[in-house]
Amino acid sequence: MKPKLGFFDFTGCEGCQLEVINFETELVELLEQVDIVNFREAMQEKGEDYEIAFIDGAITTESEVSRIKKIRKQAKILVAMGACACLGGVNCLKNFRPMEENLRIVYADCAGYYNTIPARPVSAVVDADYELPGCPMNRDEFLKLAKALLLGKKPQLPNHPVCVECKMVGNVCVFDKGEFCLGPVTRAGCNAICINSGRRCWGCRGLIDDPNVNSEKEILQKHGLTVAGILSQFRIFDGYLEVSK
Ligand code: SF4
Ligand code: SF4
Ligand code: SF4
Repeated sequence: MKPKLGFFDFTGCEGCQLEVINFETELVELLEQVDIVNFREAMQEKGEDYEIAFIDGAITTESEVSRIKKIRKQAKILVAMGACACLGGVNCLKNFRPMEENLRIVYADCAGYYNTIPARPVSAVVDADYELPGCPMNRDEFLKLAKALLLGKKPQLPNHPVCVECKMVGNVCVFDKGEFCLGPVTRAGCNAICINSGRRCWGCRGLIDDPNVNSEKEILQKHGLTVAGILSQFRIFDGYLEVSK
């Protein structure tokens, strides 16, 4: 019997699910080893007998709270996939305003027809066994995790900051150009892709396990910064941490 997988979308752009569909060759190989029984973005069938659930998106309504609890009850293994599911992501920007104000701004006269609660990551509602960081999640990490789960092994994520990969590429640090960057506290694994393209790190892969004692703290010290100080500059992906303190 092949293991049964389900993919479930909550609040997000569904870009992480789209990444899975874009795998093409690797997806065909994966389908030789597993049965996908539930994947709204790719198929009509809605099997409820899945063993591994992949979750895309943040939890932002009461009905999503009930739904994720139901999925957790069914799945032996639950994987949060992408920044929205792992961190709350961009959805948490609404947490900085009263929910009534958000509804009024977005839906105007129709606000009364909708409900919304502060956005939160999957792990704030149910246990997530594994998390695949990034916006969108990284295809190589997805495939590594899928292989590890099929072999009964525990997948590992990098726990060093983006700065390490950035320095290995040979980039000029954006702090030296007078800009801010979340690289010193953000989990590596993206090969510093944004800095390589002339931008800076916005923290889409979430924080390393203990950002206050990491090897790149000298970058922060050199520029008179603290972990809390730079996080307050960047709410795009890590806003949930700031409002839930
Ligand atoms: S993590 Fe990014 S790509 Fe994935 S659902 Fe959220 S916004 Fe979309
Ligand atoms: S702070 Fe940003 S630009 Fe500077 S080394 Fe770290 S990741 Fe690279
Ligand atoms: S550099 Fe930062 S924002 Fe860009 S992909 Fe990597 S972790 Fe995400």
